[in-house]
Amino acid sequence: MIGINTHKWLSRSPNFKAGADKSLKVADLIDTITNQWDRGKVHTIFEPDTREDILKLKLSNVASRDRLLWKENKANKFSVRTAYQVALRLHHPQIGEHSLASMDRKMWKRIWSLNVPPKVRNFMWWACSNILPTKANLVQKKVQVDPICTVCGQHEETTGHILWECPLARNMWALVRGRIQKTSSSKASFFLLMRQMMERLSREEFLSYGL
Ligand SMILES: [Zn+2]
Repeated sequence: MIGINTHKWLSRSPNFKAGADKSLKVADLIDTITNQWDRGKVHTIFEPDTREDILKLKLSNVASRDRLLWKENKANKFSVRTAYQVALRLHHPQIGEHSLASMDRKMWKRIWSLNVPPKVRNFMWWACSNILPTKANLVQKKVQVDPICTVCGQHEETTGHILWECPLARNMWALVRGRIQKTSSSKASFFLLMRQMMERLSREEFLSYGL
């Protein structure tokens, strides 16, 4: 049974009126005779925005057992592949959905197949996964540090900043020959930066920066 306050059954989390009985089940909100929403109950329990969300949900006239559906593919069947795509989307909300998964697969594969010492490969992997212990990441993990970059003292020390945007990083990249400096100046994550490089630079160019 789906609880009105224990399950994620609405697209937004519900707003309850003060004193509402939150222990009810979603089924309790449905009139057993008409099989439609019990508007009176919905009105006494929820604030107007949630009320709207609920009443928008169409109910079947035929009594049938509830089923959980996976709405990420046409078959409504859960698959690891679509779950992975959802995870990526949650992690990188700024990326459009199209071609995201195949592009990412290519990129992880390419990083993994770089002909470089394992420690370099791991570092790139960590940087792209945004799990390096940058100050910004430490703050997110509730570690008490000043998130500002100690090198330039101006911006938050994110992976993208310390490896690309910070003047120190810019100077370092300036020593590299090729088109790499022109790749991007955006403040996007390091992961997106790498993706952009991969799209714009040839395979040889890309590989040569894995040194
Ligand atoms: Zn800096």
